[in-house]
Amino acid sequence: MKIGILGGGQLARMIALAGYPLGLKFIVLDPDPNAGAGGLSEHLHGAYDDPQLLAELAEKADIVTYEFENVPADVAAFLSSHTTVYPPANALAVAQDRLLEKNFFRELGIGTAPYRAIDSLADLEQAMPEIGYPAILKSRRMGYDGKGQALLHSAQDLAAAWESVAGVPCIVEGFVGFSREVSIIAARSPSGHIVFYPLSENRHKGGILRIAECRNNDALQAQAENHVRLLLERLGYVGVVALELFDVDGELLANEFAPRVHNSGHWTIEGAETSQFENHLRAILDLPLGSTKPRGLAAMVNFIGGLAPDPAVLALADSHLHLYDKEPRKGRKVAHATVRSDDGIIYAETLEKLRLLAEAVDDS
Ligand code: ATP
Ligand code: MG
Ligand code: MG
Repeated sequence: MKIGILGGGQLARMIALAGYPLGLKFIVLDPDPNAGAGGLSEHLHGAYDDPQLLAELAEKADIVTYEFENVPADVAAFLSSHTTVYPPANALAVAQDRLLEKNFFRELGIGTAPYRAIDSLADLEQAMPEIGYPAILKSRRMGYDGKGQALLHSAQDLAAAWESVAGVPCIVEGFVGFSREVSIIAARSPSGHIVFYPLSENRHKGGILRIAECRNNDALQAQAENHVRLLLERLGYVGVVALELFDVDGELLANEFAPRVHNSGHWTIEGAETSQFENHLRAILDLPLGSTKPRGLAAMVNFIGGLAPDPAVLALADSHLHLYDKEPRKGRKVAHATVRSDDGIIYAETLEKLRLLAEAVDDS
């Protein structure tokens, strides 16, 4: 079996690493000449919408999936007409446009921050009295790690914010005073079987995820599962999904979802019986889904920046280092480390040491 993946970065690399024990092979399509899933996969090098490369991918792969959701909708449609593509193209269409995504949450009865569609500075000026300050202007498409976003503190910020997003179609969202951010990762198979991971509690800085901790038996687990189940069933979804949520006094508001494996689920590699990467492969191949049971305490720390993490990470007991073999660049995720332990004290100490080691190389 050969799995085709659109995108050949660290997510594709970790999917491939999970797939080798199952006897799977991989082929990625990525415009970056260095992005062959870290050398673990056959690599088609070129644009996502190159018809010849897409035809070659559909021909060579038994099934196609994504690590990158911002591929043009007609690419997903083209591939779907030539081979099996999971998650389905409709999930991509919704997830890659923040307006459709927020409307979709509302249709499902899932709460969100107040929001409005913004296509001009006049729209923004008109929306703000209703939305209130602070608020965030976000481009509808192509944003990640907080890119394409501007914080609005008062009416004086509006013109500069609109200019900073270069006048592309946007939404404006009220700022949510959450007590914490969590995400739920789930996998659904073609027959409709769903498994849920324990919640991840996520710490961001500057719009970039820094730390994700497994929260076993969280009081809001059932609420999060209900939200993500609604989403999976409405979309006829197949594969792994991640739903990002704000906890506001025990009510979970939806922020966004990713139709793919997710950074907040990297702790599942060592911290769960079956990783999110393996369960994604099992789901798209219609194999039995694996147990999502946590294996003790687990948390993940991202390493962001131009420098490789200190080898001291390897010297820490109960820590596991994952280097992505990526060209260093400012603000780029180049590695992560996971702490997994049965001992609460070792866990807390190691997590704090990893946090400091990550902070030392952070250039974002
Ligand atoms: P990702 O890398 O997760 O795809 P993104 O660029 O799509 O990021 P968001 O998830 O929308 O951006 O926002 C990044 C972070 O900014 C959130 O995780 C949260 O910490 C903060 N944030 C975004 N929207 C809001 C909001 N309405 N209220 C409060 N904080 C917010
Ligand atoms: Mg996002
Ligand atoms: Mg996000």
